[in-house]
Amino acid sequence: MTSLNQQLYESSQKYIPGGVNSPVRAFKSVGGTPIFFKRGQGAYFWDVDGKSYIDYVGSWGPLILGHAHPKVVKAVQEAAQNGLSFGAPTEAELEIAELLCKLLPSIEQVRLVSSCTEAGMSAVRLARGYTGRSRIIKFEGCYHGHDDALLVKAGSGALTFGHPSSAGVPSETAAHTMVLNYNEIAGLEKIFSEFGKEIAAVIVEPVAGNMNLVKAEPDFLATLRSLCTQYGSVLIFDEVMTGFRVGLECAQGLYQIKPDLTILGKVIGGGMPMAAFGGRREIMQCLAPLGAVYQAGTLSGNPVAVAAGLATLEEVQAPEFYETLAAKTQQLTQGLASVAQKYNVDFCAQSVGGMFGLYFCKELPKSFADVMMCDKEAFNRFFHAMLGEGVYFAPSAFEAGFVSTAHTDEDIDKTLLAAERVFTSWV
Ligand SMILES: *Cc1c(COP(=O)(O)O)cnc(C)c1O
Repeated sequence: MTSLNQQLYESSQKYIPGGVNSPVRAFKSVGGTPIFFKRGQGAYFWDVDGKSYIDYVGSWGPLILGHAHPKVVKAVQEAAQNGLSFGAPTEAELEIAELLCKLLPSIEQVRLVSSCTEAGMSAVRLARGYTGRSRIIKFEGCYHGHDDALLVKAGSGALTFGHPSSAGVPSETAAHTMVLNYNEIAGLEKIFSEFGKEIAAVIVEPVAGNMNLVKAEPDFLATLRSLCTQYGSVLIFDEVMTGFRVGLECAQGLYQIKPDLTILGKVIGGGMPMAAFGGRREIMQCLAPLGAVYQAGTLSGNPVAVAAGLATLEEVQAPEFYETLAAKTQQLTQGLASVAQKYNVDFCAQSVGGMFGLYFCKELPKSFADVMMCDKEAFNRFFHAMLGEGVYFAPSAFEAGFVSTAHTDEDIDKTLLAAERVFTSWV
C-alpha cells in the first residue's frame, strides 16, 4: 500500500515543479521522498501519515519558540480578526521598527518587506544607489536569497567574475558581482586595493549558515569593516539566519562590529512571511519616497506577520533566554560528538546560540572548500537513519540546524539515544 505521503508527492509533482515550492524541501541532496507535514506543536511535528519527529529545522530558522507557540498564535488570531491587510501604515509597524532599532544599535531606520530575498535585493540596490557604484562582493557559500545579482558563486574557490550559478541570470548582471573566499583576508585586501573605489557593497553572513555552519573569524569581519570604511563601500550583514538566533544583539553584537546595513528575516517574522532591512539613517533616507532608490511592497509590514514577529521578539527578550537556548544547543552538539567518538565515527559539531553545524569530518570547517571535504554520503546515511528514529535534521549536509526553546532535556536525550543506535551499527 502506498502511504498518503507517497500519493501526495506523486500528485504534487503533476501540479508543482518537482512537487515542492522551494528546492531545499525536495530531498534532492539526501535522496528519497520529501515528507509532507500536517501539524506542529512545540519541538515536534507530525507527517501526513501520523509519524512524529523531533524538529531540528524549525522552518529553516524562524521557529525559535517551537511550533505554534500559544502567544504567537494568539497574536496572529487577534490581528487577523482586525483585518488581514490595509496597504496603509499601522501602529504595529512603528512598534516593531522602534524595537528593531532599539535592539540593534547599528539600525537607525528600518523598512519591512515580505521575504529575505526581497530584503537582500533591496539592500544591494540601496547600497548601489547611495554610493553610485555597481560592483558588489559576496563570499562563496553564503546565500542571500535568489536575486540575480546575488546568485553568483565562485566555481573553484578562486576569485571569479560574474559566473552565475543559475540559468536565466544574464552574465551582464552577474558581471558586477565578485566572489571571494570566506574567512580569507588576503583576497579581500587585494580586491579592495584594485577595485575599492568601484565597490558599492560587501554582503556577508557574519556566521555562515547556508554552507552548513561556518563561523567568521573575528579578524575577517574586522578587516571587512575597516576596508569598507576606508573605501566608502557599504558593509551589509545578512543576519537573516543569525538575527535573534545567536543572541539578542545578533552576530554583530557577538563580534562587536557595526555594519552599515543589516538584513533580517526568519525569527523576526515568527514563522510568517516577513523580513526587513535597515541601517544608517543617511543611507536609508535614499529610499523612496524620500530618495531616488525605488523599493515598494503591497503586503510589506502585513499586520498579521508583524503581530507574529512582535510576539516572538517579546519572548526572546526574557532574561536568560539566549543562555538557556545556547546551553541546550550545546548539549545536543556535544552529546552527538561524544556518541560519534565512542563509535569512532569521523564527526564534529559546533553551535552558536541556537544554531548548530554537524560535520562528517575531523575538523571544524572554515570555508566552503573545507565544508566540501566533509563526507556527504555519511551525512546522508545519518540523516535517513535519524529520520527513521523520528528525528528530523535538515535534508542536506550543507545546512545549519536549529534548536528552539520548546526542545526539552528529554527531547535532546531522546535524540542522543537515537544517534547511539545509529552509530552502533555504523562501521
Ligand atoms: C534564508 C536566508 C535568506 C533567504 O530568505 P528567503 O526568505 O527564503 O528569501 C537569505 N539570507 C540568509 C542568510 C538566509 O539564511
